[in-house]
Formats: sequence, C-alpha cells, structure tokens
Amino acid sequence: MSLPVVAIVGRPNVGKSTIFNRLAGERIAIVEDQPGITRDRIYSRSEWNGREFHLIDTGGLEFGEQDEILDHIRNQAELAIEEADVILFVVDGRDGMTPTDQEVAEMLHRSNKPVVLMVNKIDNFKHSNDAFEFYQLGFEYVIPTSSIHGTGTGDMLDAVVSYFPDTQEESYDEDTIRVSLIGRPNVGKSSIVNALLGEERVIVSPVAGTTRDAIDTPFKYEGQEYVLVDTAGIRKRGKVYESIEKYSVLRALRAIERSDVCLIIVDGERGIAEQDKRIAGYAHEAGCAAIFVVNKWDAVEKDEKTMDHFKQELRNQFRFMDYAPILFVSAKTKQRIHRILPMVQEVSEQHAMRITTSVLNQVIQDAIISTPPPQDRGRRLKIQYGTQVSVKPPTFVLFVNDPELAHFSYLRYLENQLRQAFAFTGTPMRLILRKKN
Ligand code: GDP
Ligand code: GDP
Repeated sequence: MSLPVVAIVGRPNVGKSTIFNRLAGERIAIVEDQPGITRDRIYSRSEWNGREFHLIDTGGLEFGEQDEILDHIRNQAELAIEEADVILFVVDGRDGMTPTDQEVAEMLHRSNKPVVLMVNKIDNFKHSNDAFEFYQLGFEYVIPTSSIHGTGTGDMLDAVVSYFPDTQEESYDEDTIRVSLIGRPNVGKSSIVNALLGEERVIVSPVAGTTRDAIDTPFKYEGQEYVLVDTAGIRKRGKVYESIEKYSVLRALRAIERSDVCLIIVDGERGIAEQDKRIAGYAHEAGCAAIFVVNKWDAVEKDEKTMDHFKQELRNQFRFMDYAPILFVSAKTKQRIHRILPMVQEVSEQHAMRITTSVLNQVIQDAIISTPPPQDRGRRLKIQYGTQVSVKPPTFVLFVNDPELAHFSYLRYLENQLRQAFAFTGTPMRLILRKKN
C-alpha cells in the first residue's frame, strides 16, 4: 500500500525544516542508531493518529543553477504539485503576507491540490490575530502555529490528514512477487527493465484496467507471477527534476513501500555514491528483501580481482545489509540478466519464511550457551524464549527479563546465529524484545 505524500513548501526561513524535524525527529533518531545508514534530512516517514505518511521538505532540494529565491520556490511548488497528496504551505506570521506568498498561493490554487496553510512563528497566542490576513490567500485551513513551541501542530496535522485519500488495498495476489528497481538517475534502471521484460521466457500480461495498475507491469516467468512496481515512473523521461538526485529518492520511497523485493541498482562504472546508501537504507528500514545489482559491468575494465574488490567495497559501504546478495550484470550486453528473476524468487521465499517455535528456540538456546549475554552492571540479559510473529520481513519476539539489558552487539550476534541456521538470504530480520513477567 502506498503512503500519502505531504510536501512542505514555503519561502526560506519560515520554519520548514523546524517543522520537518519536529515531525520526523523520533524516527531520525532511531534510525541513526544503526551504524552505516545515511539519512536524508528531507524525506521522512511520519505518523499522526495512526495514519502514516511520507513527509518531504522541498526547501532542502537543490534544483541546480537557480539562485533566485523565487525560482527555487516555484520549483518546490511544482514538485509538490506533481508528487504530493497534500501540500503544507508555510508562511511567516511575523513577516506578514509577502508577494512571493501570493504567487505561490496562485500556483497552488491552479493545481487543485489540497493545501493546508500554516502561519508559523505565532509563538504567543495573543498574536494569533496576525494569522487572519492570510485568509485572503483563499485556503480552507489557515492554522496559526509555533513550530518552535509545537503549538498548533496538532491542528495542522488534523487538517493535513483530513485530506488524505482513502486507503486503497493493493490489488495483487498474495502470491505475486512485487519487485522494484531503485537507484540513482542513470544507473540503468530503465535499461534493466527493458532487458528483463525482453527476456524470452518472460510473458508480460496485457495492461490492467485501472489507472493505478497501469503504472505497474505484471508479468509471468516460469509459472510465477511478478509485478514490476512503478515501471512508468522508471521509464518516464524529460522532466526537469528527473535528473535531480535527491528527487529520485522520492520515487524510490514510493516504490519500496509497495514492494516485496527491491533491486538496488548500482553503477559499476561510476562506483558507489552516498545517495545509493540512502536509497538502500530506506529499503532496509521498510523491511523489503533486497538484492544489489551492479550494472554496466561491460564498461568496467577488469582483471580477475575486480569483482571481489567491488564486492568488498559494497560490503564495507553497506554493512547494515550484509544479507543482500550481489549480482553483476550488464543491461547492454544482457550478461547475467537472466539470473535476476531466479534470485528474486529465492529471496522472496526467504522473506516469507516461517520457523517453528521449537526449532527457533533450539537455535536460540544453542546461541546462548556458546556465547552468553554479557553482564551489565551485575545484571545479565535472560532470554526465556522466542517466537516468530510475522513474515515479510521475518519478525521475532524474544521474551526477556529486561529489554534494557540487550545490547545492539548481542542482538546482532543472535541475528547472525539465526542466519547461520536458517539463511534468510536477502531479507532483513527484526528482533523485538518483550519483558516477560
Ligand atoms: P526554513 O528555511 O523554512 O526551513 O526555516 P527554518 O526551519 O530553518 O527556520 C528559520 C529560522 O526560524 C530558525 O532560526 C528557526 O529557529 C526559526 N523558527 C522556526 N519556527 C519558528 C517559530 O515557530 N517561532 C520562532 N520564533 N522562530 C521559528
Ligand atoms: P536510469 O536513469 O537509471 O533509468 O538509467 P538508463 O537505463 O536510462 O541508463 C542511463 C544510461 O546508462 C544510458 O545512456 C544507458 O545507455 C546506459 N546504460 C544502461 N545500462 C548500461 C550497461 O549495462 N552498460 C553500459 N555500458 N551502459 C549502460
């Protein structure tokens, strides 16, 4: 299911990143605990009253050579209009209304997208009258806030959520494997899609009826149903911001949300970039199965060590994803393209694998005996038993004496022991600790 997207738009210094950080804060802190994951300060997953959504601070996007503030805001607004379900338009209540605010408002009106107008920096309730003049901009919701103090944020979020489209269930079968290709611009995503769909035994299904489905490509391979998620997005060309690296993350985010398996495409010729880590980090965090596909291998000058070196580099850069298999391909020469789908099927099975409680506990007990949990100020973690509570990704609950006593490194050790016993190739895994009374 794809989450609604909320885009924050507005002039510099009105408080966009302050509100973004406030809404994203908790999640960013959690994720930054995981070594190796690089975080964007622009995209986040947030939640209000049980409704999850993606949040983008368009002010953090770089649009190339445009120094003019007005151009920058126009680009932000255009992107928000194109991609967001709800636009959060932030203005500065202390500055009052500016011509730029009016211009942005006109653009937003023309788009017919739902807009919530947030009149920020109303730190003192006595000044909430300052927000009134902004009613002239013609939006249904005009909400005075102070993002420094957090006042008004709840009202603002209520308004935002009220515009969310009704949740739509995914229309594909449980057994259909949903695959996405994610990666920076120009790594070869659309070339790989073409090479994959052009394979002899791949049977592309006739286009489905609804517009929603039309962005995906369902196909069959060796009796298994697949769907390439957001194929249209990968193939779409020519947009000004298509080439913007940070923008490509949004595409990736939306595709990841709807996928079982993510193919993380890396450019073998140009090597690994920081942005690759962000994109991969989102797939990991979302619990998708993942495969690294190093493309353009034809263009790499190599000797017998090149592949191992590249693998090593990939493992170093993506320590948090050492479970993901690596494939070296060329969309151009079709080298090893035929290996992709069998591997997708394999990791997808592992992603959905269930371990019986008795076998699981045998492995946990053996792990504890061979390396007991370390003591922490005289106390030791005691694991009573574990059970698998869900799949996609495999998620385990461990009942323990005190969850506070569990250290990242010991959980990592347990995860490795589980992987040694059951493989779980290509899939992240979650260990949740519960206090057993
Ligand atoms: P952006 O450029 O729109 O992302 O704005 P920032 O979030 O970076 O905020 C610009 C400045 O305004 C910073 O110094 C913030 O601390 C300040 N600021 C943000 N929100 C508020 C607010 O509600 N009240 C006050 N007084 N200052 C704020
Ligand atoms: P996307 O933006 O990730 O969809 O990338 P494209 O599929 O549009 O490819 C970007 C550029 O890389 C194009 O010029 C392709 O011809 C080139 N390219 C893609 N795959 C390969 C490959 O396997 N080998 C080589 N040498 N070039 C490739």
